[in-house]
Amino acid sequence: MSNMEQDRWSRVKGRLRSSVGEDVYSSWFARMDLESVQDESVHLSVPTRFLKSWIQAHYAERVLTCWQAEMPEVHRVDVTVRTAMRVAAPAKEAPAPVEPRRSEGRDGRPSSELRNTAIAPVSASHEALGGSPLDPRLTFGSFVVGRSNTLAHAAARQVAEGRRGDSVMFNPLYIHAGVGLGKTHLLQAVTWAGNSGAERKVLYLTAEKFMYGFVAALKTQTALAFKEALRGIDVLVIDDMQFLQGKTTQAEFCHTLNALIDAGRQVVIAADRPPSDLESLDERVRSRLAGGLVVEMGSLGEELRLGILKSRVAAARAHHATFDVPAPVLDYLARTITHNGRDLEGAINRLLAHSKLNATPVTLEMAEREVRDLIRPMEPKRIKIEDIQRVVARQYNVSRSDLLSSRRTANVVRPRQVAMYLAKTLTLRSLPEIGRRFGGRDHTTVLHAVRKIEALVGKDVALQDEVESLKRQLQE
Ligand code: ADP
Ligand code: MG
Repeated sequence: MSNMEQDRWSRVKGRLRSSVGEDVYSSWFARMDLESVQDESVHLSVPTRFLKSWIQAHYAERVLTCWQAEMPEVHRVDVTVRTAMRVAAPAKEAPAPVEPRRSEGRDGRPSSELRNTAIAPVSASHEALGGSPLDPRLTFGSFVVGRSNTLAHAAARQVAEGRRGDSVMFNPLYIHAGVGLGKTHLLQAVTWAGNSGAERKVLYLTAEKFMYGFVAALKTQTALAFKEALRGIDVLVIDDMQFLQGKTTQAEFCHTLNALIDAGRQVVIAADRPPSDLESLDERVRSRLAGGLVVEMGSLGEELRLGILKSRVAAARAHHATFDVPAPVLDYLARTITHNGRDLEGAINRLLAHSKLNATPVTLEMAEREVRDLIRPMEPKRIKIEDIQRVVARQYNVSRSDLLSSRRTANVVRPRQVAMYLAKTLTLRSLPEIGRRFGGRDHTTVLHAVRKIEALVGKDVALQDEVESLKRQLQE
């Protein structure tokens, strides 16, 4: 290769780097080599099939544009896998479905393999991907609707009843709630109901499974097939979104999400917090998540807890006909086990086990003894940054947008500092996150505010009272 070609290649890489940013560049392009330039085609190579399909799927245009900026006559860019790597690929452990049938040309001409990469055997990868296991008990039939989950339930039903080709009403549907409040139950119900017609394909994945599937696909170099499989489904359900971590995974998630939503497919997501609080998530993903319908499921009210208990007893009676829990016991359990649905389920399981093993009927006394450790003191309320901003703004008679603004007048600066201080002490949010939520401020600004108020509270009794009163209002 001539020096001139090498120089040109360096400039193209430079353009690419500044166009996609350093991170993306080093993830995807650092190991890309120039093989040859012939007439109007450029031939590049990368060490793995995965890199090749990723670049072709997401950056083909970009690469071409960068070449054309240096060489306007270039009209096509071919990417191939460097032979040495392909031989070394671990084909034995994982029979890769996209194994090339013949080697790719290294002469600058595209081989047939190159043009056919998009036709990956979807079924094979789908098998490799697989959904997360479903619990047959978690259906709409056993889901009890109450005040705290009416909206989430209605939205989930709507999604489950949609038909292929229907226009999608809210996308993604994002459900968030604390632990044990029924997220997984609702998501699996959607999956069961959606798949029962066999007309639509609904795939339920935990975020961990999504990551595992992705990482596994990376290793066996079938990422393209993996993506094709995902795109072949009508509804993608992702549980425990808060566990989705890692830059590459998130990039892939973002692409998948966009591809599905743009194609009119439904996406349903559950997490333990709202999109704005998914701190490790990329801003773009976060805003995409917030762009559909975001529904919170609140804590289970007593009525709902009673309903859940009854439904659990009914389910147990299907297998243990003699099992019965008298109404006063159910009332007692519903009143005292306030924490979450998992403990309610646990309580019924214990009563069942106890009455079976000892062949005795369930009594109030026995219930009190059996579930003692499930009765927990009320958890402190989950305080949100928005609540802090609202309450502080009200107390100091400024607006919430004043707090987020860049205004630096004393009547705004102090309340803003107090609000940041409360955000740091009453939530688990990090300094950068708090800064972001206060109009995009730097974390050092937040730190300064926290220290300042900490110091003042020690000296200024009036301020101390104000802060105490704010805390009380927030914890009510
Ligand atoms: P999460 O995924 O939100 O942590 P789960 O969906 O796993 O919670 O629910 C925990 C337990 O509580 C499960 O046994 C579930 O069936 C039960 N549960 C929660 N909410 C309801 C509900 N509305 N109706 C019936 N069971 C519920
Ligand atoms: Mg769950």
